[in-house]
Amino acid sequence: MNERYDPQSIEARWQARWSEAGTFRAGRRPGAEKRYVLEMFPYPSGAMHMGHARVYTIGDALARHLHMKGFDVLHPIGFDALGLPAENAALKDGRHPAERTRENIDAFRRELKSLGFSFDWEREIATCDPEYYRWNQWFFLKMLERGIVHRRIGKANWCTGCLTVIANEQVVDDNRCERCGSPVVDKEIPEWAFRITAYADDLLAGLDTLGQWPERITTMQRNWIGKSVGAEVDFGVAGSSERVKVFTTRVDTIHGCTYVVLAPEHPLVEKLTVPARRAEVRAFVERMRKTDAVDRTGEGAPKEGVFTGAEAVNPYNGEKVPVWIANFVLAEYGTGAVMSVPAHDQRDLEFARKYRLPVRVVIQPASGGRLPAGDALEKAFTEDGRLEASGPFDGLASAAARDRMAAEAQARGFGQATVRWHLRDWGFSRQRYWGTPIPIVYCDDHGAVPVPEKDLPVLLPPQALITGTGEPPLAKVPEFVNAKCPRCGKPGRRETETMDTFVDSSWYYARYLSPRDSTRPFDPAAARRWLPVDVYVGGPEHAVMHLLYFRFWHRVMHQLGLVQEDEPCTRLVTQGIVNGPDGRKMSKRWGNVVTPRPMVERFGADTVRMFMLFASPPEKDIDWSDEQVEGLFRFLGRVWRLFHARQGCFGAEEAALPDAAGPWLELRRRTHRTVKRVTDGFGADLKFNTSIAALMELVNELYALEPVAEPERAAVREALVALATLLAPFAPHAAEELWHEVMGKAAVGRLLAAEPWPGFDPALVAADTVTIAVQVNGKLRGEVQAPAAAGEAEVRALAEAEERVRAHIAGKTVRKVVFVPRRLMNFVVG
Ligand SMILES: [Zn+2]
Ligand SMILES: [Zn+2]
Repeated sequence: MNERYDPQSIEARWQARWSEAGTFRAGRRPGAEKRYVLEMFPYPSGAMHMGHARVYTIGDALARHLHMKGFDVLHPIGFDALGLPAENAALKDGRHPAERTRENIDAFRRELKSLGFSFDWEREIATCDPEYYRWNQWFFLKMLERGIVHRRIGKANWCTGCLTVIANEQVVDDNRCERCGSPVVDKEIPEWAFRITAYADDLLAGLDTLGQWPERITTMQRNWIGKSVGAEVDFGVAGSSERVKVFTTRVDTIHGCTYVVLAPEHPLVEKLTVPARRAEVRAFVERMRKTDAVDRTGEGAPKEGVFTGAEAVNPYNGEKVPVWIANFVLAEYGTGAVMSVPAHDQRDLEFARKYRLPVRVVIQPASGGRLPAGDALEKAFTEDGRLEASGPFDGLASAAARDRMAAEAQARGFGQATVRWHLRDWGFSRQRYWGTPIPIVYCDDHGAVPVPEKDLPVLLPPQALITGTGEPPLAKVPEFVNAKCPRCGKPGRRETETMDTFVDSSWYYARYLSPRDSTRPFDPAAARRWLPVDVYVGGPEHAVMHLLYFRFWHRVMHQLGLVQEDEPCTRLVTQGIVNGPDGRKMSKRWGNVVTPRPMVERFGADTVRMFMLFASPPEKDIDWSDEQVEGLFRFLGRVWRLFHARQGCFGAEEAALPDAAGPWLELRRRTHRTVKRVTDGFGADLKFNTSIAALMELVNELYALEPVAEPERAAVREALVALATLLAPFAPHAAEELWHEVMGKAAVGRLLAAEPWPGFDPALVAADTVTIAVQVNGKLRGEVQAPAAAGEAEVRALAEAEERVRAHIAGKTVRKVVFVPRRLMNFVVG
């Protein structure tokens, strides 16, 4: 029996035990309710980074907790193994992406295992496996049959040096190719696309059912889908037969339009610009082309524009207004042209003031009071109201006017009521090697012919002629390209594009349900058992790509009769990032990168896991801190010694527990409160940090008490049983070792990981809560609600989770913490 805490001597042993016992194999409790806990699967680049360690630790604590609560838990893992990085690396050293990926997966798997995650390893998948990607191809065929996949003309980034299409990620500063530095231009090329726009309304409505998703994420999706109901109106152009189509959600304000703005990329710019202004306009357009859309249109970006010399004609009243070009209008949003109504749009007002354009009020507040004349207007009035100076529409309320005016536009042939979306169809063709081949053969007589289902998978040929230039790599492999037309048998040519890797991640959570199924993507009966995913943990950076795509895909699977519900996942947990010790994002450039492996080797997996959970609540960013990691290692050592020092308490277990007032009853109260606190930490708000703090308080109290009589030993025993059990989701190896070797459970043979989660006695928990003031350098910065008996560590964890307090201590060193129990905590920072 080792009395020194030495994680290296215990962790691998318990990992092997869990594996041999099949503890985490899903489906072993068929009578129990299910829980599906999922973390976003990793892209297996070389070594695991801290972000991975954090996301899997959060998910693992949840999964282990649910397992102990008695649920039948599915907690799978796999690898998002196709994609650009392996292909780019091949360009540098010529190694085949398959070989590199397999090696990376093996290394990554070892690291995941070393952290003791409770994955059901028998369900492991890798998307580069033909048995996986053949189902991407199968879905493609099903979606093609239903018109959900279509071929369209899309816009792509064309590198003028490499003579190939490159991914957005490869376009770097100043619109240049990451590899060769040549300018990148837009090129129109045919591509395959998913009609995700056909699902826009449904994806939008579904957001209302996602009450357990962070609001930030659902808001981002709502904006990304971007539904706006309004009208399209054609403005004439003075002295020309051209028309400028604008889209507006406020056609009721159109009589206040005093200028029209085109996006710099608008196709009419060149045509409309008068010769005298051409040079200036061209220079402006050229400058805008090189500016990032976000920089151009962001909140603080200055509004800039240039006059074309042309005039547009308002079709409602025949008035002529100047046509401008401005940075804040994007070609890809709406029609790429807007009518500007400065009196009723703040952005338009700022632009009008800058360029001395007229401002005309046409809406008055419905609630009374009058706006000043346009020249005196300080702020645009953007609400609905009553129309004036609007000809036949004067006196109408805004909403009624919008209907009447859209109807008039339709009747007179210059417009119509319409709904617009920001969402675009999802173009998924990639001129890449390391992706899923698109199962299509082109025939001179029959065009694009789908490969029959029985001929799937279309295998990625082992020859990978990756040069990064010219044609797609697959086009250089004649054995791949030359194929018979499935319809007529004449020589044809295979599609050489591959699928966007977001296809792989759009349905992988369903493949885990029957990962070796060779007759279908997954078993619908298993889907009935396990879907939807109950908790999904991953980074918020996936808010509008992956997290929208998988909602779309789930709806398609529903239509195909494979799943029963509309939404793939009930609850989403987004975790913050792990910064370097200096508070900056980890980067080779800053020399602040810390990786899990050396930390696991030095401190053990349990300490690294504890750090990930204790440093802050899951959704917040954390800074790596050697000091805090060492602190947690010392804490586990303290737990270790405590159990050994109190080993005598484990023996005869019949004695009654103390119930007379005094320290022993207080210990019992603390034990039961701790059980409640830790259990609550797994609730609607994940608060692992305060859970661990509560465990620290319990340990402190146990150290302060020396049991003599048997009832006292019984109280200590109760506390230690709770401590080991509550520690199990966070530091599973140490907890398991103490359970078996110190507490004498080895003889029972059951693993702590499968023991029931402890309950608590409400009578012992009923304790008063107090409000504790939190100061930073003596100034009140917030307050926290804490149990009256909470000690310093527990209150500190609560205080540090407070947004306002965090704001005042972020990036500073806490020199001292003054704690007055039940009343006050003051952080002295410098
Ligand atoms: Zn290039
Ligand atoms: Zn044919």
